[in-house]
Amino acid sequence: MFETLSDRLTTVFSSLRSKGRLSEADINATAREIRVALLEADVALPVVKDFIARVKERARGAEVSQALNPAQQVVKIVNEELIEILGGETRRIRFAKNPPTVIMLAGLQGSGKTTLAGKLARWLKQEGHTPLLVAADLQRPNAVQQLQVVGERAGAAVFAPEPGNGVGDPVDVARRSLDHARHAQHDVVVIDTAGRLGVDAEMMRQAADIRDAVRPHEILFVVDAMIGQDAVTTAQAFLDGVGFDGVVLTKLDGDARGGAALSVRHVTGRPIMFASTGEKLEDFNVFHPDRMAGRILD
Ligand code: GDP
Repeated sequence: MFETLSDRLTTVFSSLRSKGRLSEADINATAREIRVALLEADVALPVVKDFIARVKERARGAEVSQALNPAQQVVKIVNEELIEILGGETRRIRFAKNPPTVIMLAGLQGSGKTTLAGKLARWLKQEGHTPLLVAADLQRPNAVQQLQVVGERAGAAVFAPEPGNGVGDPVDVARRSLDHARHAQHDVVVIDTAGRLGVDAEMMRQAADIRDAVRPHEILFVVDAMIGQDAVTTAQAFLDGVGFDGVVLTKLDGDARGGAALSVRHVTGRPIMFASTGEKLEDFNVFHPDRMAGRILD
């Protein structure tokens, strides 16, 4: 991801290298090219507008520096503004003082929630926690079994409705899982919920009912970075319908242009907390805005 954007920005900056001092015309021309590069990368228009306005303002105000030539100064400003747009500081999970910490996953079907549950379990175990995965996606055929498979791979326990009891009520499963976690001394509960292929009122209602029943400490909105501009509209719909505390970007290993990653924080005001970069459990990282900005400007 970001290859085209990276290449475009490198070209923009290299045309500045020979300049002794940035004129107003240079700043405007550079801003225009950065704007095109961001729009081509599928970054949402309001995000692009804000970004460009800030870069221009800072480039105009930049002091003549002994240490940095004008091109380096622009790179520095763009880097800092990219970090800002990606959320600034790394936002970590807030663990509850009284366990279990309840983490609820929400997002469209296929966004990667069940896979993420396994990844989170593996990561939480590495961090010294004793996670319990909860199968509250009772909509999608095989979702329960899929969660059991990833739980087994991650070496984490899975709480699921007993087989043979019909479809079961996801709200009830989620509620009962908390009692189970307390008894079995799991300090973190990760609840996998049902998604649909598109935004749907019934899905939102069910997620909101689960939310109200278990009062999660963290609701993570899981979004496939490959869906481009749709990531922003979907995020907005989940923000209105369920609300969330943080975002997990999945499929960052794909050849998406990166717009979702660069837009979602700014548009929703919620931080990106984790990144998923493949199908395997270890393809997963805490999201660091500075490292992502570094990759874009590499
Ligand atoms: P859910 O419907 O939201 O639970 O989504 P799943 O966890 O079932 O994931 C949907 C598909 O995306 C599966 O085939 C996963 O293997 C795949 N997947 C999930 N995360 C990633 C990722 O980060 N990269 C890639 N390439 N595939 C992923």
